[in-house]
Amino acid sequence: MIALFAVTDAGRRTAAELAPALGGQVRALDELPTLWPDLDGAVFLLATGATVRLVAPLLADKRTDPGVVCVDEARRFAVALCGGHEGGANTLATRVAAALGAEPVITTASDAAGSTGLGELVDLLGATVDGDAAAAGTALLDGTARVENPLGFPLPPLPTRTGEPRHTITISDRAAPGAAPGWTLLIPQTLVVGIGSARGATAAAVAETLRRVETEHGYDLRAVRAVASVDLKADEEGILAAIAPFSLTTFPATVLAQVPVPNPSDVVRAEVGTPSVAEAAALHCAGPGAELVVEKIKGDNVTVAVARVRPKGRLALVGLGPGAADLRVPRADAELRRASIVVGLDQYVDQVRHLLRPGTEVRASGLGEEEQRAADAVALAAKGHAVALIGSGDAGIYAMASPALEGAGADIDVVGVPGVTAALAASSLLGAPLGHDHVLISLSDLHTPWEVIERRVAAAAAADLVTCFYNPRSRDRHWQLGAALDAFRAHRPPTTPVGAVRQAGRAGQRVWTAALSDFDPAEVDMLTTVVVGSSTTRMVAGRMVTPRGYRWS
Ligand code: SAH
Repeated sequence: MIALFAVTDAGRRTAAELAPALGGQVRALDELPTLWPDLDGAVFLLATGATVRLVAPLLADKRTDPGVVCVDEARRFAVALCGGHEGGANTLATRVAAALGAEPVITTASDAAGSTGLGELVDLLGATVDGDAAAAGTALLDGTARVENPLGFPLPPLPTRTGEPRHTITISDRAAPGAAPGWTLLIPQTLVVGIGSARGATAAAVAETLRRVETEHGYDLRAVRAVASVDLKADEEGILAAIAPFSLTTFPATVLAQVPVPNPSDVVRAEVGTPSVAEAAALHCAGPGAELVVEKIKGDNVTVAVARVRPKGRLALVGLGPGAADLRVPRADAELRRASIVVGLDQYVDQVRHLLRPGTEVRASGLGEEEQRAADAVALAAKGHAVALIGSGDAGIYAMASPALEGAGADIDVVGVPGVTAALAASSLLGAPLGHDHVLISLSDLHTPWEVIERRVAAAAAADLVTCFYNPRSRDRHWQLGAALDAFRAHRPPTTPVGAVRQAGRAGQRVWTAALSDFDPAEVDMLTTVVVGSSTTRMVAGRMVTPRGYRWS
């Protein structure tokens, strides 16, 4: 039994809310000594100090003591206080945290290193667990689990094996004889069932044919993610009843007729307008790359076929922001921990190395190898890995996302995580220069001829847009910024504010402004973003402000 103990009103409310989520009971504190020997877990809605004093006299042996978790009054933290592994406190703290939206605080060695837990694996696979999840979870964190991933899901790094495997975790859609001690199955949602039938096929016949997917072909029906057919069958009662709670996804016969299948039928073509329903619907619904794992099975007036969705590799394009850790979005951290391979410029990798899970492969390379880096990241994802390609600011702004996606196919999943780009980091330091229409222009002629850049600069100047210059000036490109500012001088008052930020959000940050007539490009380098105001931009109390330009009342 899991018992929950509270003394304050807030604590009692939290305990009452938690008890059903944990399958536990709220008990009185004075019952603790009597309950202790039989407890599987104890959750205290108390400070750690108070909890330590209460349980200290009762603690005997880590192999027999229950896991002890305490939760602060504000419900911010669920602390696994003792019995982390063997008492299950780490798992319990994680469950409590999940139920309350709190942070689990876990301090035992392998967990503190931030290893991937079973719950996380289950969630990312959308899997059904068959077997002793608690034992599997403990073995995984202890480094005594062997994880079998024959379908090649792009998993995050798994805890390093520290000893002889005591538990096997198999990720599979193959029907197994059932979980055995020391063996847990994670059944992912990989299968799409296609069904065809004559009008009036019975639910019993459909169900019986479906069962043969498991009994004769060895696929676990718990791995089914969707059931598909032809439009004509959308209201076929026998099918709908047999597949509940799934709904039926249907496609026009003309679409299914285009799908190459191993067992087409002229009879079906004549009746329905496609030579295959079950096989074609399964394959079409499962999407590109799907494999027909069970060819058409014929039942009583019904046919069933099964396609397997191919797990795709995963590419996360992650912007780290300008540099300060607290300007990096939380989702970036999550994606870095989700990846088994992190690709990036060495200085950016160094910024986040401490966040990576043990076992993460790091591919750091130097400046000037952008295209190769992007191509490598895509190729690794195409091989089925979980890859994060990182860069500063936003990954999509003068950065790696474009070359990566130019070379990426539909065979990988892509996830973008926005980052705070230099223009935003700079503008928040300067004031509110982007309060009205604005434009970003890179002055680098590495990938763009200067004539094109010049035309765009002139257009921005003429259009009275606030303009942020990226890559404004380097040793070898020293005159372009001056030329760009001259273009603006032709269109804007000499008093127009120009702001500059060097190393925004990093050590050595410098912020300065000057009038357009006085701004000195020599102070600018490649680590600087320059913001030229529009004709309405003003300095107010030392801050650069571009009015919104319409009335508020
Ligand atoms: N992807 C990046 C931009 C890369 S281009 C982003 O979204 O921010 C590189 C240019 O960005 C630099 O030459 C500079 O103009 C600007 N930049 C990047 N980081 C900066 C920072 N921390 N402070 C000021 N400017 C920065």
